[in-house]
Amino acid sequence: MRAAVLEQTQRGIDIISDGEQTRQHFVTTFIEHLSGVDFEKRETVRIRNRYDASVPTVVSAVERENPVFVQDAKFLRSCTDKQIKWTLPGPMTMVDTLYDAHYRSREKLAWEFATILNQEARELEAAGVDIIQFDEPAFNVFFDEVADWGIAALERACEGLKAETVVHICFGYGIKANNDWKATLGAQWRHYEKSFPLLQASSIDTVSLESHHSNVPLEVVELVRGKRVMLGAIDVANDAVETAEEVAQTLRNALEFVDADKLIASTNCGMAPFRRDVALAKLSALSAGAGILREELVGARV
Ligand code: ZN
Repeated sequence: MRAAVLEQTQRGIDIISDGEQTRQHFVTTFIEHLSGVDFEKRETVRIRNRYDASVPTVVSAVERENPVFVQDAKFLRSCTDKQIKWTLPGPMTMVDTLYDAHYRSREKLAWEFATILNQEARELEAAGVDIIQFDEPAFNVFFDEVADWGIAALERACEGLKAETVVHICFGYGIKANNDWKATLGAQWRHYEKSFPLLQASSIDTVSLESHHSNVPLEVVELVRGKRVMLGAIDVANDAVETAEEVAQTLRNALEFVDADKLIASTNCGMAPFRRDVALAKLSALSAGAGILREELVGARV
C-alpha cells in the first residue's frame, strides 16, 4: 500500500486511495468479513442481469462482528497528508452478489447491509478518511429498485457522516462481460437519467460517473446540478493511454453542466485489470489533463 501511495503522489494525484491493495474483489472482500453469509454454500445467480456466477448464500442474519477495513485505513492515513478516499460496496450491489436464503427480500437485506456499512463508514471517518465512496453499479440496472429503496438504503449507509460521501455508478471494469454488455447499449447510454434526479434530491455529496469513451450523453450531468461530480476521464476498458489533452477535453466538455469548483477528474472505474505500467501512465495523464484545465480556469478568472 505504501508503494501505491507513493506512485499516486509522484504522478500528481490529489486524492489518495489504497490502490485497491486491501481488497480482492470490490464487493466480496467486504462480505467475507461479515457473519451470516456462507461462502461454502453456493448458488448460481445472474449478476446485474448480465452474467451468471456462483455466489455465496445468506444463511442467517448478517452482522459485522469486527471492523473490516479500519486498520487498513489508519495505515493509509499514516502514509500521506493528502486527502484520502476509501471505497465500500453499495447496499444494492452487495445484495445483487449473493443468494439470499434468509431474508428472502432484496430490500430487507439491503437495509441490513446499509446499517452495517454505516457502522464501518463511521469508523473509517474516525480513522481519518476524508472521502467515503460507495460503488453502486447496480444503479445502472435496477431502475425501479433504485427509486423504491436503493437511494434510501444508500442514504442510510451515509447517515451522520461528516466525511464527503460519493456514489460511483459505472458500466464496470474492462472485463469481457461488461464490454459485451456495453456493445448492446446503443449510441446513447441514458441510464443515469433514472438515478441522477433522485441523487440530486438525496443527501449524497458527490456523484461519480463514466464519461471518456463512453456513450453517456454529457447533459445528464446537469441532472445532478449542485452536487460535486467525479467525472471519468480515463477509459478503463482500453489500455491505450490517453493524452493529457484528451483528458482535458473530456473535462472541458462537462463544464457546460457542472460548476468548475465542483468538478473532480477521475477514472471511469477501477484500473485493477490493467498492467501496472499502463495504470501508472493513465494516472499521469489524468493529473496532467486536470492540470491543463486548472490553468485554463485560473487564466479565465484573471
Ligand atoms: Zn466502477
